[in-house]
Amino acid sequence: MASLIPRLADQKRIVIKIGSATLVDAKSGRLRAAWLQTLIDDIAWLKEQGKEVLIVSSGAIALGRKQTNLPSGHLRLEQSQAAAAIGQISLGQAYADALHKVDLIAGQILLTLGDTEERRPYLNARATLSTLLELGVVPIVNENDTVATSEIKYGDNDRLAARVATMISADCLILLSDIDGLYTAPPASNPDAQHLPVIEHITPEIEAMAGSAGSSLAKGGMTTKIAAAKIAIKSGTSMVIANGAGYNPLQAIANGATCSWFLAKANPITARKRWIHGALEPHGTIFLDAGAVKALLSGKSLLPAGVSKLNGHFSRGDAVILKDLHGAEIARGLVAYDRVDADKIIGHQSHEIAAILGYEGRAEMIHRDDMVLSVFETN
Ligand code: GLU
Repeated sequence: MASLIPRLADQKRIVIKIGSATLVDAKSGRLRAAWLQTLIDDIAWLKEQGKEVLIVSSGAIALGRKQTNLPSGHLRLEQSQAAAAIGQISLGQAYADALHKVDLIAGQILLTLGDTEERRPYLNARATLSTLLELGVVPIVNENDTVATSEIKYGDNDRLAARVATMISADCLILLSDIDGLYTAPPASNPDAQHLPVIEHITPEIEAMAGSAGSSLAKGGMTTKIAAAKIAIKSGTSMVIANGAGYNPLQAIANGATCSWFLAKANPITARKRWIHGALEPHGTIFLDAGAVKALLSGKSLLPAGVSKLNGHFSRGDAVILKDLHGAEIARGLVAYDRVDADKIIGHQSHEIAAILGYEGRAEMIHRDDMVLSVFETN
């Protein structure tokens, strides 16, 4: 098993996600400035080795609420948006100052879910991030909480970080958290819980191990970390969950601190399929009959004949989820028909499409090239 554990030294492009609970002291609500400087020292150390580093940092809401009279406990959406507007300034400044001390430059990027779900903003964001990395700058990314409403929001930076990591084809994503990895059961409540140093495949058993443990400051529990790992590894980005609380947390990982590595797939999906696979807010659901599920698993496209029912309001080219009749997710893809036309042709043979719709549409409801399987694959 030990030989499987990747080395930080072998990773060239690294994304580091820092959770609120790691960055902000829970009691005082203040930034852990001394700790942050040791993290930045580690980043300078990685950059001296020729690596590219990007940070995804939480903490805007936690810092912002400290500076105002917002109540403790749950905040209303507009209160957390206001807190983020205030806290993001101090957050960005803290990174810029700490990086400046080691002669590095910070560049701030605030993303919404829409920026990563829509193709054009996605490509724009990717181009900006790549340019920053080329310039040797350390991008500091957070969700643009001030405009993200509850329906169109990541809400946790674990999945945002995975999306950003795959967007720039990172080799590795490090989630610095308040837990040192994945356990067979929640370690706080179960003394028999065993730590898993390497996860090669995210099986249904692995998913079941992820309870929803979380601290008072953090949004993402283990469930969102596993969701992040699924996005990352399929795209060729390894992911590690490590405890970030101590000083110099990246050197600690390099020196063999306890952590969990999720291994990247050897044959990652293409850049375009990465975008499709990472979509969090599909516009609709297509339910497949058993024959269509089998066809998809053997590498075929989805034909209208294999569709049993539809949900949602989607247009041509929108991302949709494909589910079996029990509701289990099979794949994600870009649909070739809008909902109105799709309703008319489902259950029909492809050669009937022209007669039904009055125009020559595509034979496939979703072409293989526009689809990524979500189910656990053994190879
Ligand atoms: N974007 C949020 C913030 O900066 C944090 C989300 C999370 O904790 O994952 O406060």
